Amino acid sequence: GAKPIPDYVARLNPEQRLAVETTDGPVLVLAGAGTGKTRVLTTRIAHLLATGKAHPSQILAVTFTNKAAREMRHRIGDLIGPSVEGMNWLGTFHSIGVKILRRHAELVGLKSSFTILDTDDQIRLMKQVIQAEGIDEKRWPAKQLAALIDGWKNRGLVPKDVPPGDGGSFANGKAVKLYIAYQERLKVLNACDFGDLLLENLRLFREHPDVLKEYHQRFHYMLVDEYQDTNVAQYLWLRLLAQGRRNICCVGDDDQSIYGWRGAEVDNILRFEKDFPGAVVIRLERNYRSTSHILGAASHLIAHNQGRLGKTLFTEANDPDSVKVQVSSSWDSEEEARAIGEKIEDLQRQGHRLNDMAILVRASFQMRSFEDRFITLGLNYRVIGGPRFYERQEIRDALAYFRVVAQPADDLAFERIVNTPRRGIGDTSIKLLYDYGRSRGIPITQAAEELVQTEEVKAKTRTALRDLMASFERWRGKLGTIKHTELAEIILDESGYTEMWQQDRSADAPGRLENLKELIRSMDEFESMEGFLEHIALVMDKDNAENQDAVSIMTLHSAKGLEFETVFLPGWEEGLFPHQRALDESGRAGLEEERRLAYVGITRAKKRASIWFASNRRIHGLWQSNVPSRFLDELPEKHVDVVEQTSNYGGYNVGGVGNYGASRFDRADPFQNTYSTPGWQRAQANRAAGAKPAAKSNTRLIEGELIAKSTGSKSDYAIGERVFHQKFGYGHIEDIEGNKLTVAFEKAGTKKVVDSFVSKN
Ligand code: ATP
Ligand code: MG
Repeated sequence: GAKPIPDYVARLNPEQRLAVETTDGPVLVLAGAGTGKTRVLTTRIAHLLATGKAHPSQILAVTFTNKAAREMRHRIGDLIGPSVEGMNWLGTFHSIGVKILRRHAELVGLKSSFTILDTDDQIRLMKQVIQAEGIDEKRWPAKQLAALIDGWKNRGLVPKDVPPGDGGSFANGKAVKLYIAYQERLKVLNACDFGDLLLENLRLFREHPDVLKEYHQRFHYMLVDEYQDTNVAQYLWLRLLAQGRRNICCVGDDDQSIYGWRGAEVDNILRFEKDFPGAVVIRLERNYRSTSHILGAASHLIAHNQGRLGKTLFTEANDPDSVKVQVSSSWDSEEEARAIGEKIEDLQRQGHRLNDMAILVRASFQMRSFEDRFITLGLNYRVIGGPRFYERQEIRDALAYFRVVAQPADDLAFERIVNTPRRGIGDTSIKLLYDYGRSRGIPITQAAEELVQTEEVKAKTRTALRDLMASFERWRGKLGTIKHTELAEIILDESGYTEMWQQDRSADAPGRLENLKELIRSMDEFESMEGFLEHIALVMDKDNAENQDAVSIMTLHSAKGLEFETVFLPGWEEGLFPHQRALDESGRAGLEEERRLAYVGITRAKKRASIWFASNRRIHGLWQSNVPSRFLDELPEKHVDVVEQTSNYGGYNVGGVGNYGASRFDRADPFQNTYSTPGWQRAQANRAAGAKPAAKSNTRLIEGELIAKSTGSKSDYAIGERVFHQKFGYGHIEDIEGNKLTVAFEKAGTKKVVDSFVSKN
């Protein structure tokens, strides 16, 4: 009398079923994209719970992102109902690490209320540590130290374990010393940085075997998704925890390892069998996600990598109307966005939902042209895994500079950048500016201009403010006399903003610099700074399409594990994809990681994959021609259709080994391309309309000046009068100049102050 097989198990293929039912002992599922690895994990959890092998709180399940954790919780809930609520150990490495650390904080010298530093705090603290050691912070920047220390932490290395010479020449070999000092400072502050979370867990488990034992007791079963992207610290953490009951199931795909640049090591897959002898290794070969054309294209591409464990994939998708992977070219990225926008609208007209479509980019700056285009078309979109282009920190900062230049009365913009990069203008000074501005009904920039003529602000701050105000004056003088894109570059350079990111050694800094370049590139489409800023105001007004039908835009990295009916893959150009930085920094390994990223991209598609490359990119107003990505040549002809956009495109042979000559894509006349769709016309109409509100902000400025003038002229004080000042105390007025008073203070000496900060005695 065998028990009836539960429905969810019956729906699996034999290998998947084996992976679900081999509950005890180590299991490694090594399988390609879309073979149901994540499905195996969720079903396995449901199975463990349904068969009573474990309570929800006895299962440790690790996902790569919080989004994936939510998704998994949701899917398990669908299978087993509300008891999924009790799964309080389902999350990312970090979220679980924090939870464990809080429970035993005192054992590693922390209080359970410890704070987790963000990157900014981390850098600030490192700066202090560097200075305290008497090291020149300019020569050996904190960001660089942060990259070193993060790297060590990813590899599970506490200071004493760092191999000699590993810090390179940083601070003349003092990097490890700084690492020690930094960790000591963290303890004093009762704080952790991100990398510490797992590192402190490791220390906890090693130094307190009783605690480790407690978790061995607790976690009856452990499950890990996206195992190929674990770093060494995560691996060691898993290994320690799994030593207890040895019921660990990891699923992964070496071909999808795309976080090498963040310390992930594919070798962890190979180590698994060594560290867990007798592990059952299961391979899943049937892909349930994609059509045979999509799978064929992806498999052929990834076969160009040498460092692979190797696997076969097949699909039984019965898809008579399966379409080949499409490869299309465009003149530039704007045209690419227009053409993809049209494709999306076509699909929508045919009844496809926007939710089933995604645009996957290599670098976040690529999102900009799509976002602009979709806003013009009124097409809903959402950006996944990060803010929308114009909402990114560096873009907002840059825009704030431009706004202060073009619209001096923009207080919020001024406040945003007055101390970015750091100029020693602190919160107190900013508050002072605000109070003063408000009390007089003038914009904060003007308040700043007035206050720097007084001693209300500390001498050092005053100099910094004065310099900044002078810069703004200089930039304003150029407004309308030089090209606005050129001015934008000057502003970002002279303000030190670009340099701030150039000095930054964190992993996302290069991407931010690219975004800034893209921002300037995008300005080229507009006549003036004002027209551009107006466009931005309209763009920013759109709210996020949270629960609406919307196209997803995201990077390839954040697309991991997801699937969509239709996937657009723009920007397949040498230098962008494969990305130049990856090639420069890690050569062949870098190239292979890029190729895995391409594989991840194509395999997100269920029915339609459409790859794009632009023949040209406009950089600083100059056209530069692009070479199509070598990955295009690595696609098999059998599964690919090259779409001819116009008669100007030469024939393109897919699969010609090493033969991706750009010339075949060259176009005689770029302007022959006529995408005169209604949408495009709408875009121009929108931009033309942009002039009006810009004029409004000018009016606001003028009003500001008027108020300032009318209040600025009279002062109700008289020479010789005794007054009280918040900061300087009592004094007698010696001179009056508009609203500025020279006061001989009884204690603080003679100072120039403004009348709104003193009161009559
Ligand atoms: P990736 O490597 O991209 O993370 P994966 O191996 O985790 O992919 P899943 O996301 O689990 O794959 O599954 C891919 C798709 O195939 C999903 O839509 C899933 O529901 C479906 N699927 C998986 N197994 C089966 C099955 N036995 N029968 C029907 N559909 C299945
Ligand atoms: Mg998956």
